[in-house]
Amino acid sequence: MTPNERDEPRPSNQAGGDSLIRKDLAALAVRPHWRADAPAPGSFSWVAMRERLSGLPGGGLNIGFEALDRPVREGRGEHVALHWLGAEGGERRITYDELRRLANRFASAITRLGLGRGERLFVLAPRLPELYVAILGALKAGVVVSPLFSAFGPEPIATRMNLGQGRALVTTPGLYARKVAPVIAQIPTLAHVLLIDDGSGACPAGTHDVGALLHDAGVEGEAFECAATRPDEMALLHFTSGTTGRPKGAMHVHEAVVTHYATGLYALDLHADDIFWCTADPGWVTGMSYGVIAPLLHGVTMVVDEAEFDPERWYTILQEHEVSVWYTAPTAIRMLMKAGTALAKRFPLPRLRFVASVGEPLNPEAVRWGQEALGLPIHDNWWQTETGGIMVANGAAFDIKPGSMGRPLPGVEAAIVERLESGGVRLIDAPDTQGELALKRGWPSMFRGYLHEDDRYRKCFAGEWYLSGDLVRRDTDGNYWFVGRADDVIKSAGHLIGPFEVESVLMEHPAVVEAGVIGKPDALLGEVVKAFVALRPGHEASEALMRELMAHARKRLGAAVAPKEIAFAASLPHTRSGKIMRRLLKARELGLPEGDTSTMEGAA
Ligand code: ATP
Ligand code: MG
Repeated sequence: MTPNERDEPRPSNQAGGDSLIRKDLAALAVRPHWRADAPAPGSFSWVAMRERLSGLPGGGLNIGFEALDRPVREGRGEHVALHWLGAEGGERRITYDELRRLANRFASAITRLGLGRGERLFVLAPRLPELYVAILGALKAGVVVSPLFSAFGPEPIATRMNLGQGRALVTTPGLYARKVAPVIAQIPTLAHVLLIDDGSGACPAGTHDVGALLHDAGVEGEAFECAATRPDEMALLHFTSGTTGRPKGAMHVHEAVVTHYATGLYALDLHADDIFWCTADPGWVTGMSYGVIAPLLHGVTMVVDEAEFDPERWYTILQEHEVSVWYTAPTAIRMLMKAGTALAKRFPLPRLRFVASVGEPLNPEAVRWGQEALGLPIHDNWWQTETGGIMVANGAAFDIKPGSMGRPLPGVEAAIVERLESGGVRLIDAPDTQGELALKRGWPSMFRGYLHEDDRYRKCFAGEWYLSGDLVRRDTDGNYWFVGRADDVIKSAGHLIGPFEVESVLMEHPAVVEAGVIGKPDALLGEVVKAFVALRPGHEASEALMRELMAHARKRLGAAVAPKEIAFAASLPHTRSGKIMRRLLKARELGLPEGDTSTMEGAA
């Protein structure tokens, strides 16, 4: 029996109807939700999207060229591309033309060092302007960029650089001394270390100073001719978040830029006069696809904040820098919720018009909180490192069913499938149905392989379908609802229970700020639902509160789905990209090995 067949109360996140957030479509018509020049979704084609980009002579395509040279050629050279805010104060505004010239200097410098097409350059740096220059410059040189999150410790850095055969690394003197130097002997391929001056010390012998390289490249370097990369040539190597196990290296090609462009249009509604802030670090795919590439393709000004999360700072940035489109993550939203609605209300945000979120399920409570605290609902969207860009989204002009991640974007064909023992899949076509989310292969930013794991890559496909590993439900209106990762789904007394459903209901309780739900083996029932909850400030863990939460969950979910056990936790384990690590909650509960924790928040 599937959850749809249960004759029990449904939580509000799946109820549709009365919890709908209706958009004022008349108001939106003043500001079209899809740019006037965007083809209607019905007439969408990837070929037409590709034609909007410049391309290179001879059929080539290059992400860096499209992100910088195209806007400059279209007259946006003097527009601010990157508005950088320093962690210690200070700011820097870099125009499209300046960024283009700097990227060209960097491309010229690394080419002169001998880095060739297809070789890998890793970046491990705080969000400093030179990080962006290096990424874009390397792409223009045809060098493959692999970003590492700067909080990684030496081991994860060495492992990934070894896997990816890193030839060059861009980092800072401080990070180099603390994290790279101790393991450099383990990275035999590494030939060039390029250091961005962050005031933490001089460049040790044998390394290069990025500032000096840019300077020395001179005006001549600014005339760098973009490498004639083919659309199917590798551009980016992204490691996954490691939520379910050891991170995989997903390989992406220059053609991905077509998806970056289209999704900037359809999912984020980017207009050239927008001030856009993507809070994700470029160490993760979101921070690359939407924190570097997509905004530049649309000629917007992107805000880059070097500092870490801080509620007051974030509201100040949104307000002072007049951010109009904001792309963030559920974990950040939950932390803002924790900081309180009163704080949010101290910062009116009249320029903010669209807020989107990705990375984890966005609980309906969070969508509604956005409406209350920011005056705007939060638009959830879904994608993965493997998909390279947003695939399913709540578009700007559609009503939102809080808890739903929206509908497939134009050009994305999604289906719900069941895996068969033969290795094939069966499409489940029923109007209100649940199963694994699959995508018809062929969208431009589809990953082209897992590094050194061909077999694993092949197993992600059944015929024409890419199998996402995520379970979803599609309602009768065509909206998709996240149920859980296939690995996280709980089987209890014949019921299939998605952790998200239970977590969202627990979060409805005013005492709960975050919940993580796992299945705990049980001799009788197969598994029982166990919840770990973190409380809001001002609430104390107690027997009485536990009983209250149990009762609330039973009332909302029914006895079969509600947790049988609830444990209070000071905080839940997260990946550095902000995802709850349910596999760790489970391993700890069962006293099993924790597995790969290299991407866990707080790990060295
Ligand atoms: P790993 O594959 O190493 O376990 P990961 O899957 O967390 O890590 P990412 O590619 O960063 O690595 O994350 C993609 C996954 O995040 C999706 O497969 C899905 O499980 C989850 N996710 C992303 N967006 C959403 C969303 N809007 N709602 C629910 N889940 C989401
Ligand atoms: Mg994954």
